[in-house]
Amino acid sequence: MTIHNFNPGPAVLPRAVLERAQAELLDYQGRGMSILEMSHRSKEYEAINARAEARFKALLGLSDDYRVLFMQGGASAQFALVPLNFLVPGKVADYVVSGSWGEKALEEARRVGRTAVAASSAEGNYRRVPAPAEIRLSEEPAYVHITTNETIQGVQWADIPAIEGVPVVADMSSDIMARPFDASRLALFYAGAQKNLGPAGVTVVAINQGFMQQARADLPAIFSYKTHAKNNSLYNTPPVFAVYMLDLVLEWIEALGGLSAMAERNARKAALVYAAIDRSGGFYRGHAEPGSRSQMNATFRLPDESLEKRFVSEAQAEGMVGLAGHRSVGGIRASLYNALEEQSCLALAQFMDAFAAKHG
Ligand SMILES: *Cc1c(COP(=O)(O)O)cnc(C)c1O
Repeated sequence: MTIHNFNPGPAVLPRAVLERAQAELLDYQGRGMSILEMSHRSKEYEAINARAEARFKALLGLSDDYRVLFMQGGASAQFALVPLNFLVPGKVADYVVSGSWGEKALEEARRVGRTAVAASSAEGNYRRVPAPAEIRLSEEPAYVHITTNETIQGVQWADIPAIEGVPVVADMSSDIMARPFDASRLALFYAGAQKNLGPAGVTVVAINQGFMQQARADLPAIFSYKTHAKNNSLYNTPPVFAVYMLDLVLEWIEALGGLSAMAERNARKAALVYAAIDRSGGFYRGHAEPGSRSQMNATFRLPDESLEKRFVSEAQAEGMVGLAGHRSVGGIRASLYNALEEQSCLALAQFMDAFAAKHG
């Protein structure tokens, strides 16, 4: 049976990437051993590290004003590292909260220093992202933090909001590389790999060099962005296999035509699923307001919880896995990350039509 993998993360990876990794697993480039078994100081791994950074920058059109770092601890570590590095005493960090991950990021910053909520769409459990005009900044904030796609509620900014005169930091864990965006609006952005970039274990951080210079210098070395930049992400042992996989995924994105091709593909995929919600005559109720709908995580409810349970188990029986909503919100969540094929969205939309016809 074909498996359609709607898992929210760790999530589906491109088949071609898995096959390549399998083919190279026992003998990487004629060395008679796996990349898993080699020193991170080997020329083989150094080439992977440099290539992954170069590909990441090329795909996003990032100038040399930015450094790209491969770190560990997931996006959750970044929730703490951003304020540890930049929320200096006397300053305030502003947070735009559009869902559960933004709340988590804010919670961590509160442990470090003074924070303010610049905008929140918590009312109604985050059905939309705030309008840019709702954002109220503190006087001279250290930075303002946004979450470009809220994975749990399924709301996404259509575009990076233009916020002038303050460094903007973005958690892009669940929509990085899904479409082109203006990275020059961001002083720092980060993404755990396990949604759109590769396996769990590596977090990509892109940081403007000028912004990095403002980071405090009195931190433990391992928590300092400067340490990782100075050492080309090789300060300590990096997650070599995860970075290797990341490089293969980026190569796969390049081969498909880069971010604009990815954007078209993702728009088509998401449209298939949202159309099934919209034509169901209210049987499926989308969580997000139409203007904030996420192309990565489509969230919706059914008339009652027992139908939702049935939906998940009948879908599973047809090979569609990972559709249960996050435990904090319930309902259904279909994660439609880059590597998910269009045919999986088609299969889901057909299943949704049939299920609604049967139970509606
Ligand atoms: C998954 C996710 C996180 C948490 O990532 P970890 O790797 O588990 O720390 C944070 N932010 C967003 C937007 C996510 O999707």
